[in-house]
Amino acid sequence: MSSKPISQSNIPAAPQSARSLVPEYDFFRVVQGYLDQAAKVINLEPYVATILSQPKNEIIVNFPVKMDNGEVRLFKGYRVQHNNLLGPFKGGIRYAQMVTLDEVKALATMMTWKGSLMGLPYGGGKGGIKFDPRGVTKGELQRITRRFTHALGENIGPEYDIPAPDMGTNSQTMAWMMDTYSNMVGSNQKQSVKGVVTGKPVASGGTLGRTKATGQGMVHCLTEWARDKGFNLEGSTMIVQGFGNVGSHFGVLLSKLGVSTIAVGDHSGYLYNPEGFNAHKLQDYVLQNGSIGGYPGGKSITRDEFWGMKADICAPSALENQIGEVEARAIQAKVVVEGANGPTTPEGEKILLERGIDILPDVLANSGGVTVSYYEWVQNKRSETWTLDEVDEKLERAMKRVYKSVDDFARQRKVDRRIASYALALARIESVYKEREIFP
Ligand code: NAD
Repeated sequence: MSSKPISQSNIPAAPQSARSLVPEYDFFRVVQGYLDQAAKVINLEPYVATILSQPKNEIIVNFPVKMDNGEVRLFKGYRVQHNNLLGPFKGGIRYAQMVTLDEVKALATMMTWKGSLMGLPYGGGKGGIKFDPRGVTKGELQRITRRFTHALGENIGPEYDIPAPDMGTNSQTMAWMMDTYSNMVGSNQKQSVKGVVTGKPVASGGTLGRTKATGQGMVHCLTEWARDKGFNLEGSTMIVQGFGNVGSHFGVLLSKLGVSTIAVGDHSGYLYNPEGFNAHKLQDYVLQNGSIGGYPGGKSITRDEFWGMKADICAPSALENQIGEVEARAIQAKVVVEGANGPTTPEGEKILLERGIDILPDVLANSGGVTVSYYEWVQNKRSETWTLDEVDEKLERAMKRVYKSVDDFARQRKVDRRIASYALALARIESVYKEREIFP
């Protein structure tokens, strides 16, 4: 999100072209559906599937915040802790008007699969507050964040549940969360709780390479895909929905490999530039202005035109439930790289696969974020500072190793990459349940 606060009165209503035209769907049920399919593939013990079918804890807090005009507003915050068999609950905090318990449950569940798939010592969690962060001032944003952290209290902690940025939050949000948490513990513990959140600014204990990590991980998946397919990325074209943290870093990093972003979209609308956008300049513009709206280097197009644009790569990097049947029929790309969580509906996915369009699924493609969060947490534990090269090299090795295991599994078991990713994640969790058995 942009660091620039925008006051409520300045927010233009999202144009019709920017709104999701895909009907509402039950995100958590969609994720459960993939769990069921993957469970069949590996003959998952039914009791393990039963445990994983629901989150361990669903926390809802309502907390008051004094706004700049003196009014007291009540906010609803969520933290869903899906599973912590492999390690502490881990997952982002989302600030958006559309946040619901169902959505946070789905996202928390997916975090369990990502941690397991990537071989990290983490379980899955996710949180959020239901409000539009663009509609408040920076001071209000800080008070909302601090009061939410306080309301969560002992439900988070560096060895228990570790939040990170997600949609609508960033490193600044994490600095406020960390500072609030460190003021809630005794003064003699302040230094040891830096790892309560990841995605912090570098000077406050963050790691180099975290901001771009999700986009960077997507690049590694895409380059592996391109190599296997004999596809030359240099000179290819891309469309990106969402030009926030994930979408913009993916665009910038791919521009260095000669990929030209020819269409972009966000909550303010969609733009087209047949010559290709300067991804750096567009990223800077969004950081300054909060959206691509008003960017001088492109022609305005509709949401339908965006999805139907001829380009080699399609990168949905905004939010869930964006590629339904209509969009899947319109997409002209060879590959869909899911930067967002859950951007493709099951119906959309079926059509894409029938049309021979490859999908690099969310739980694999965007797991660079949680992987580098893990590197940050390890550095905090050891009071170390790794160089950017160290972080980048570790991430590259991790992404390529896991990409290959997913691809091999998919080919051998004749399943798509999403089910392969779920199956590998579930198999690791199952093996630990079998060893430890069920308490008492
Ligand atoms: P962000 O807040 O930085 O950016 C979100 C983008 O989505 C913005 O460009 C915004 O304008 C756009 N958007 C919002 N509503 C839209 C709408 N109705 N139509 C079109 N565009 C819309 O968030 P982010 O961190 O880049 O996260 C984007 C996605 O990536 C989310 O699904 C998130 O869960 C996922 N993700 C993020 C990370 C991470 O490290 N930040 C890691 C893994 C997955």
